Amino acid sequence: MIPELQADNRRFWTGGADGRLHVPYCESCASWVLPPEADCPSCDGALGVRTVSGEGTVFTYTVDRHPFNPAVPPPYVIAIVELAEQSDLRVAANIVDCEPDSVTIGMPVAVRFEEQQASGETVYVPVFAPLGATS
Ligand SMILES: [Zn+2]
Repeated sequence: MIPELQADNRRFWTGGADGRLHVPYCESCASWVLPPEADCPSCDGALGVRTVSGEGTVFTYTVDRHPFNPAVPPPYVIAIVELAEQSDLRVAANIVDCEPDSVTIGMPVAVRFEEQQASGETVYVPVFAPLGATS
């Protein structure tokens, strides 16, 4: 699930150390870009990084009931979350801290981070919980 860290995606996967989601942003055409890329797919402009609110809604999701990672017991929810900042700004992430069957399309969610080790680096994997839920 975690891609190899490179210049264009490192900030996205490690920026969560400060508890915020860092998303590539094109100043030239004022658009957010996910998944992270080297240049803006719309105008080839250089991408900077900005933090977003971390809030969004569940665009679509699936409940996985088959264990394929011993560290993650089923059932768990894999969702595409649409971030509040832009209508096509979407990120694939687990939905946590709620019953899988309670997840619905359009449900408001907020980001949090799970610290993991990947290829010897500490990464902060964004996951989402129902807005207002406490961890
Ligand atoms: Zn652009």
